[in-house]
Amino acid sequence: MENILSIDVEDWFHLMEHPSLPGPSEWGKLPSRVEANFADLLGILHDHNITGTCFFLGWIARKFPHLVKMASKAGFEIASHGMYHRPVYKQLPSEFLDDVATSRKICEDIIGIAVTGYRAPAFSITERTPWAFEKLIEAGYGFDTSIFPAKRDYGGFYVETLSPFIQQTKSGSIMEFPISITKILNRPFCFFGGGYFRLFPYPLIRKMALKVLNENRPLIFYIHPRDIDPEQPRYNLGTFRNFKSYVNLKSTERKLRRFLNDFRFTSYREWYKNNKERFINDEERSESR
Ligand SMILES: [Zn+2]
Repeated sequence: MENILSIDVEDWFHLMEHPSLPGPSEWGKLPSRVEANFADLLGILHDHNITGTCFFLGWIARKFPHLVKMASKAGFEIASHGMYHRPVYKQLPSEFLDDVATSRKICEDIIGIAVTGYRAPAFSITERTPWAFEKLIEAGYGFDTSIFPAKRDYGGFYVETLSPFIQQTKSGSIMEFPISITKILNRPFCFFGGGYFRLFPYPLIRKMALKVLNENRPLIFYIHPRDIDPEQPRYNLGTFRNFKSYVNLKSTERKLRRFLNDFRFTSYREWYKNNKERFINDEERSESR
C-alpha cells in the first residue's frame, strides 16, 4: 500500500507555547533556518524519488513564497498549517475561520492552484473544538489531518475509526485523515512523526509501521524541516520538553533515509485519487441517513 508523507513547513522557533518562546511579533527578528532545512529535506526526498504534502505555516509562506513555489514545482501538494501556530482550542470560532481562510489564500495566490488541505498546529483540533470542521468547510477546505487519536500535550481526539474517513457536519462533509497510531496492550501510541520518529529506534518504527499496514491502513507520516537540523539554536523549555524537542536530531536524517527506502509514500491528494473506492460505503451510509 502507498502511504502518505507530510511536512509541516515552519521554523526552529515555531514550538508550542512556553513562556521562553517568542511570539509572532518577534519572529521576524530571529535568524531563520527554514530555507536551508527545507531544501535539505526536499533533497533527501528527491534522492528517494518521493513527494508528499507540504503544510505551510501562513507566516512562512508569506515571508518565503519561493519555498511554496519550489515545493509545488517539485511535485508536492501544497496545504495550510494556519497562520500563527496558535492552538485551535485557544481561538474563537470566528478567529479560527479568519486564520484558516487567510493562510489558504496566501498559498493559493502564490501557486495559482486550489489548496484544500489543513493541519492544525500540534494537532490541536480536539473534543473542545467541535466547530472546527464546519469552519474548515466554510473556508473552502476539502480535507483535514489534525486528529491525533492518542493522548498528547496539545491534541488528542478519540475517534472510532483509525483509518481515513468522511466527517459529516451541518455545513457539509470533509475528509479526515487521523495521524497513524497503533495499539500496544490496547493503548494507542504514535511512532510516525516529529519527536516520536526521532525518539524511537528504527527497527521498532519499522515493526509498528508493518503492523499499521497489516490492519489495512496507510501510514500517515509527518516531519518538520527542523527535525533534521542538529545545529539549530535551542530554548530551555524544562527537562522533559527539552528532551522531546531536541532528542536525536543528529541521527534523524539517517533514520529517515532507511524509512524512505522501506516504504512508499505520496501526497494526500494522490493517495485519495488512488483510493476513492475505500470511501464509497461511507458516502452511501451518509446519504441513506
Ligand atoms: Zn507546527
